[in-house]
Amino acid sequence: MTLMRTARKPALVRPLLFALGLAASAAPAIAAEQTGVAPKLKATPIADAIYSGGDILTMADRDPSYADAIAIKGGKILALGARSSLQKYVGATTQQIDLAGKTLLPGFIDTHGHMILFGKNMLDADLVGTPDIPDLLTRMKVHVAKVPDGQWVVGMGYNARQLKEGRTPTIEELDSISTERPVMIVDSSGHLASGNSLLFKVTGISAETKDPVGGVFARKADGKSLAGPMEETALNQVRLQRPAFTGEIADRVATGAANLWARHGQTTAQECGLGLGADDIDLVRNAIDKKLLPLDLYVCAKDTATDDTINAAYEVSRDYNHHPDGTSKKLLAARPDLDKRYINRVRLGGIKFWLDGSPDSCWMTQPFSMNPPGKTGEFRGYQQIPNEVLDAAFDKYWTTNMQLNMHMLCDAAADQALNAIEKAVKKYGMRDHRPVFIHAAYLRPDQIPRMKAVGAIPTFLTTTLPKGGDSIAKLWGPERSAFANAAHTFDQMGLPFTFSHDAPVTPMPSILALVDAGVNRKTLAGNVIGADQRVSPYAGLRAVTAYAAYQIKEEKTKGTLEKGKLADLVILEQNPLKVPPESIKSIRVLETIKEGHTIFKLDAEATANATDLLMPTEDALLTHAHSEAALRPLTAQGKLTLESLIGAAESAR
Ligand SMILES: [Zn+2]
Repeated sequence: MTLMRTARKPALVRPLLFALGLAASAAPAIAAEQTGVAPKLKATPIADAIYSGGDILTMADRDPSYADAIAIKGGKILALGARSSLQKYVGATTQQIDLAGKTLLPGFIDTHGHMILFGKNMLDADLVGTPDIPDLLTRMKVHVAKVPDGQWVVGMGYNARQLKEGRTPTIEELDSISTERPVMIVDSSGHLASGNSLLFKVTGISAETKDPVGGVFARKADGKSLAGPMEETALNQVRLQRPAFTGEIADRVATGAANLWARHGQTTAQECGLGLGADDIDLVRNAIDKKLLPLDLYVCAKDTATDDTINAAYEVSRDYNHHPDGTSKKLLAARPDLDKRYINRVRLGGIKFWLDGSPDSCWMTQPFSMNPPGKTGEFRGYQQIPNEVLDAAFDKYWTTNMQLNMHMLCDAAADQALNAIEKAVKKYGMRDHRPVFIHAAYLRPDQIPRMKAVGAIPTFLTTTLPKGGDSIAKLWGPERSAFANAAHTFDQMGLPFTFSHDAPVTPMPSILALVDAGVNRKTLAGNVIGADQRVSPYAGLRAVTAYAAYQIKEEKTKGTLEKGKLADLVILEQNPLKVPPESIKSIRVLETIKEGHTIFKLDAEATANATDLLMPTEDALLTHAHSEAALRPLTAQGKLTLESLIGAAESAR
């Protein structure tokens, strides 16, 4: 760490000089300024593009502020100001773009989502909303042709209770889709599925197979043959044998989802739960090696996959930099302005823990107001991991820059997190760790000052209320549901808070839907849940830009339109501050720009796939020398090196 700190000092001087066009004579220029001798004449930089003629909302202040025009160069913001004041940056190559009344904002930042998981789901047939079994079978038959050889034919998202037949499709029905390919359909909960004959054959399951603990393979009435449906751990047993995504299909996992994220205005995405699938790390590694991602991806590792992920991160660092120690220095030297921790648009940001469940199983200190179906007595939901596990995680990572992200819905889970953090603070002192309380759906008011004291940030899944608000009001009672997603309280206290879609939990990674839900808190039935916690449209936008950048510790390069930050931009059809609040979700994203390059444009979607748009700016940074050696565990020295690497990149910012 010390080594890195001293190494970065001269490097940090250079970006300013590059920007001023003085790179060649850096040292003399400093000397001249210091001695009062007139510096050499500065060459005015030529902007790549200047945008004007619309609302340019900077998001840089507590209240809305607009710029008349914005100039960008080399993937960064060169200047903001009156259009006339930027005229000096116009050269023969400058694109002068008229926004024609549209609105330009900082690119949206995903603060909790599952882009890789979503990308995998996108490869499967979409069965959401299917009305009956014939329709489901038709959708699956159409899908068969799209699935490469060697892969299973999988469909996701039907709901057996909502099918006209009111049941799960049978093995015979699924055999009618294909007898030559394994076929599996998984319902919208992810806990219930069905398969065709070949699926069970290739996974070695028959009527004689013993059901695993906590799961069941349904048998026909005679008990001698499988019926198709499978539940819980039985489904997991099958699912784990699904062939890994490789080759072109692995590429599609990354590019398909990334392009969808870009369509929704995001320039930074998340995969917070890497390791849910056995091939997740390989999929991300594939995206890194092939430079597939047009936008940045912040990764947090599933708790049980932490070591594998850190090992993989170490391997990536080593492969892309002869020695991991060189990473910070090399990156600083080449593009000191960029976030050093990204390699080919991916960085490992933290670890994910699951502390409780969903709105009908979240961990409460007080009993539910109405028990969910099947629960009796004073039901308070469930604790997922022992206190010691979380305490140990904070003990281990509090002083590193591996950010702990914790799924929690209710207040007992928040207590568990706060207790663990407070122990670490007591032992090691306060750090700029910024623990993330994912969802934080019901926090007690007394927990918010505790969060403030340790720098914890909630990321609210605001779209829970439109969809589930009425049932949450029954389960949790009026008081707790009114305080659900207590964004306004955070806003009033001047504390950062963010909004996240958790896609695929929300079926689309739409950011404006989150803002709309946080602003209106209106259920589909038209009830407003907790009117006091509605935030202004501007505060809602802060939650997906400035505060979002802060949450992922990238506020120095992202989140607002300010000189020197990355030219990560989104252009909206209308200004969310100037439409009726309930139509914010209907505003269309017209264009998404990552570091000056268009990665999505409405009406010209093909540009999102253009290969010249992949990794546009960092190409020169990292020579690719990927070793084919298999992953091996980190040595003790390797771990120290990695920690110092992460630490150095962090302290250099
Ligand atoms: Zn999640």
